[in-house]
Amino acid sequence: MPFYHIWTIGCQMNRAESERLASALSLQGYRPSNADRADLIIANTCVVRGHAEEKVLNKLQNLKALKLKRPEMKLAVTGCFVEGEAHKLKERFPFVDYFFAAGVVPDWVSASRPLFVDKPQVSVYVPIIQGCNNFCSYCVVPYRRGRERSRPWDEIIGEVGNLVRNGAREVTLLGQNVDSYGHDLPGKPDLAGLMGELNGIRGLARIRFLTNHPKDMGNKLINAIATLEKVCHSINIPVQAGDDRILKDMRRGYTVEQYRSLIGNIRSRVPDIAITTDVIVGFPGETEEEFLNTARLLAELMFDAVHSAAYSQREGTHASRLADDVLPKSKKERLFLIEQQQELISAEINAGLLGRSEEVLVEGRHKGKWQGRARSDKLVFFTGGEHLVGSLVPVRIEKTGPWSLQGTLDGSEKW
Ligand code: SF4
Repeated sequence: MPFYHIWTIGCQMNRAESERLASALSLQGYRPSNADRADLIIANTCVVRGHAEEKVLNKLQNLKALKLKRPEMKLAVTGCFVEGEAHKLKERFPFVDYFFAAGVVPDWVSASRPLFVDKPQVSVYVPIIQGCNNFCSYCVVPYRRGRERSRPWDEIIGEVGNLVRNGAREVTLLGQNVDSYGHDLPGKPDLAGLMGELNGIRGLARIRFLTNHPKDMGNKLINAIATLEKVCHSINIPVQAGDDRILKDMRRGYTVEQYRSLIGNIRSRVPDIAITTDVIVGFPGETEEEFLNTARLLAELMFDAVHSAAYSQREGTHASRLADDVLPKSKKERLFLIEQQQELISAEINAGLLGRSEEVLVEGRHKGKWQGRARSDKLVFFTGGEHLVGSLVPVRIEKTGPWSLQGTLDGSEKW
């Protein structure tokens, strides 16, 4: 029986693609194992930040040592590190047997797209659109993943149906810019319509989608979130900066006021929605005052969570022509300030859930407790009950913190 090992870093998209490769390999008779024993190792890479690229290079050095020890082992590399660079990479890393583009299941893995999971998975990622057309000035994705390409509607519906028959209860529709789904397909279907169709699949309990661009979040999509009962009231809308000059240099295509009014619109239509955002600190030329504008906006809009990162220059992007002039020390301090501020905000929002009963989809066990996610996507740990994996259960929240909630099973299983 052949064995495989997949090493993955980066975003949910990469994780979803690794899951697809794993299921395709399982259909071919492969079984998962650690790297030392594997007949095939696939490295699924990310280069969105300089730090990620360094990790990839280190990993390739380790894999080279393994390949020298066991030359019969096959080594493949995929992900953003590879896009458009395969011929150059072959010269640079001759010990790698195959390079293949992100999102592809190569012929030597499977003759067809995998539509099955080989083990019951409660919550699964389903990529629906690849690439990005936005060209934000700091971002390497459009160069590495190419322009937007939506997957055909029927293929997605069929895949989700199969996943649900194999035990999935929750799907997260994925794309670098998921809310622009369908504009390149005949008849121009959209994300709201797709979720409406998925909402009718029996056995599917929850639908999520990741991630969005504020300029593509229209009223039709907001209405779908408000009215489709399986679509969870949780959403990620990256703001990236709270200062108009920085937003302009980032080429984000909206102003602070437009973003503020979008959040107001969503909250008025879906009052219990949990909203998370992403920010970049230390963009070229960002002054202390411009950074403080971002911190103030985050304090004003009170997000459930903020994913923050320090600006990192990526070769080939428009912003790489600007001087990366914010000192590393300042970037670190700005990150720290945002994280400290957000910890207090998240703790305050979560404290409001104390005593409430939250519907939790149980994903597994952790340190003697059940672990799952509320519809808001908040992590919940709780006690009580048996054989709950895959169940939707009510949990009474008894303790809250900035990063998670704790409680006990509140009555019997719901569905
Ligand atoms: Fe990158 Fe902007 Fe596209 Fe997001 S929307 S993937 S940040 S170019």
